[in-house]
Amino acid sequence: MDDLSLSVEKLRNVGPRNISKLNKLGIKTVKDLLRHFPVRYEDYTEIIPINQAEPGQKVNIQGEVMQISSRRIFPRRMSVTNAIVSDSSGAIKVVWFNQPYIENQLIEGTLVSLAGKVSLNKHGVYLSSPVYEKISSSFDSIHSPQSEIQNSGLKHTSGLVPIYSETEGVTSKYLRFLIKPLIGNLELEDPLPSSMLSKYNFPDILKAMASIHFPSDLQSAEIAKERFAFEDLLLFQIKALVERRRVNQLKSVSVPFNQELVQEFITQLPFELTTDQKIATWEILKDIQKNYPMNRLLEGDVGSGKTVVALITAYQIAHSGHQTVFMAPTEVLARQHYKTVTSLFSAKGGPQPEADQPLAGAKNSGGKFIHTALLTGSEAKLDNQLITKKTLKEKIASGQVQIIIGTHAIISAKGGPASSGQNSISFDKLALVVIDEQHRFGIHQRKALLNNSELQITNSESENTQSEIRNTLIPHLLSMTATPIPRTLALTIYGDLDISLIKEKPKNRQKIITKIIGPKERKEAYQFVRSEVKKGRQVFVVCPRIEISDPKKEIKVDDKRLKMNILWQEVKAVEEEYRKLSEEVFPDLKVVMLHGKLKPKDKNEIMDKFKNGEYDIVVSTSVIEVGVDIPNASIMMIESAERFGLAQLHQFRGRVGRDIHQSYCLLLSSTTEKSVNQRLKALVECDDGFDLAEKDMKIRGPGEFFGVKQSGLPDLAMASLANVDLIKKARAEARLLLKEDPSLKNYPLLKERLDSFQRLTHFE
Ligand code: ADP
Ligand code: MG
Repeated sequence: MDDLSLSVEKLRNVGPRNISKLNKLGIKTVKDLLRHFPVRYEDYTEIIPINQAEPGQKVNIQGEVMQISSRRIFPRRMSVTNAIVSDSSGAIKVVWFNQPYIENQLIEGTLVSLAGKVSLNKHGVYLSSPVYEKISSSFDSIHSPQSEIQNSGLKHTSGLVPIYSETEGVTSKYLRFLIKPLIGNLELEDPLPSSMLSKYNFPDILKAMASIHFPSDLQSAEIAKERFAFEDLLLFQIKALVERRRVNQLKSVSVPFNQELVQEFITQLPFELTTDQKIATWEILKDIQKNYPMNRLLEGDVGSGKTVVALITAYQIAHSGHQTVFMAPTEVLARQHYKTVTSLFSAKGGPQPEADQPLAGAKNSGGKFIHTALLTGSEAKLDNQLITKKTLKEKIASGQVQIIIGTHAIISAKGGPASSGQNSISFDKLALVVIDEQHRFGIHQRKALLNNSELQITNSESENTQSEIRNTLIPHLLSMTATPIPRTLALTIYGDLDISLIKEKPKNRQKIITKIIGPKERKEAYQFVRSEVKKGRQVFVVCPRIEISDPKKEIKVDDKRLKMNILWQEVKAVEEEYRKLSEEVFPDLKVVMLHGKLKPKDKNEIMDKFKNGEYDIVVSTSVIEVGVDIPNASIMMIESAERFGLAQLHQFRGRVGRDIHQSYCLLLSSTTEKSVNQRLKALVECDDGFDLAEKDMKIRGPGEFFGVKQSGLPDLAMASLANVDLIKKARAEARLLLKEDPSLKNYPLLKERLDSFQRLTHFE
């Protein structure tokens, strides 16, 4: 077998019905099949003499079929096959259900290898539905169970048996059946240079492929896994370096860092910046001084004060005569940011300006004025006055507005030429794009912001558009996230970004009291909520997350439908919770619900009213309003908290405690299970988002972090993200490799895999 790009349908044992099932697992070619690695192994390395098989054990026994027969059990439409199998030490009964054909396969006298669980019922010990394989070796060896039978033909019942991730109709048994004949018959070229293999003592690809699927012992399986994980991590690092190199060749506006101006602005803020905020600001202002695009991620816990860092930057940019666009994930957040901007920029005193009149507080010595605008699906404002979208867009295009705040959807207006009509927006001198709460944003979207008519640029760039991009000024990019990502993870997934961290919280922050509420304490918790409301406080209730039963399986089916489905289920959950709270638990309080199916306008109205104290309790889904600021809210109550990750729970918790009132986070757990509540305990004990993120990664694996699934990182590499050592090696090698051979022309196989990664992750 040397043509790995051969479609699996060409394999002997793949029929038309299996093809679509294999495709569902992402297996299209022989190569895909080989790279569908086991998730674990069943250990049948030892052949157990039959008389030593103990109930409860999973065993491999080998022997001769002495007797076999099937019968139907009529009322239940089932069939049972009973057999007796013996070796030199004794005999055991074997039972299979609904596989009557076994009777014809394992006729009396057949030598068989069986792997399965030993069970016990009132008639005695038996082997229940074991996997079976015929043995072709000589009878004698069977009858000396102590001597290991070297029967390399066995793939299901002997040795370390690989278990794969399965889908309906594609079992591990079937996959073993397909893969085993390929192994040992392969001609594979190694994508990794041999010098690298020997440097780290990695097995070559042939050996690794054999040991990962059918290892002789667990250690060789581990080493093979590490080798493949390394390969993927290496590719990811190369990808990041290539991307960074590409970005560094692009041109951006260089915005001079006017320290005096920035200092003056910082002094008139209503609070003192934390040291981390100052450092982050400084890093960013240094970056935008360069004439190639900044690509920086600002990570900071909820409430750590990221917005103001971005605004200082925007202020500097406005004074250099350029524009900043600030994109929030939701309308509510965009409006909130807009309020912050207008209040900060007028903090030096002076009345709010009329439209077309300068912001009083924002004038610099040169007599320039900073105009700020809000642009969302439902409204447009300039300098805090309502204005038509059309007029606003004209003013933005002609450079009369320096800071524009809006929603991702409106401003980036992605989606190709179709969107380049009414929804498009163009800028005069855009120098900075700030993206709040969204991790990935590529060069093409930045470019799209500059000029909508050129949105058509796709993945398959022609030389032409490449050079076109090179000649345009690309805006600097600052993305901000409150989901702390463990460092190793960030380095791998976001290797092409620079990262600024805000770890320190503003001094005036109070500690939020976090409590786990079991089913029995629920009543008490409701009473507590009531007493807080009586004191004038307000309450958030977050409804349980709707789980996707098997994300791997379903996402491939139809992403859009799946998302809609989840959305609807979440709406249902909110409605249910709302009904319960408003009718049964708090009929005397003002309860309102909020979910993703409401129109943005209605959502705004509800949040405005909540902020004004017209509601006591807002019941909502988990996905909306990530960063909303309601100072008077003092309780965050999370239903079925055990269904969320620690990092996300921590996010929710950050929604309260924004004012002088003592605040609470109530984690309602619907289980009394110890281990589950143990996990929630981490939240009670720890209020550092970065620590929690590390814990979360250890407990749930890195796949749960936002952006990680989308990164296209294969499972094996994903599983090694905690292996800092391996990541370091991969980074070092990626550097060396690119230095020596920037276009990877001597490593065509690496190059090929790199390209396929790039295709996978293009939808950034
Ligand atoms: P996040 O990082 O979650 O986006 P915000 O930027 O929304 O946080 O800041 C949360 C609140 O903290 C805002 O009201 C902001 O004005 C305030 N804030 C920011 N920095 C400081 C500081 N250094 N001291 C006190 N309050 C601050
Ligand atoms: Mg924020």
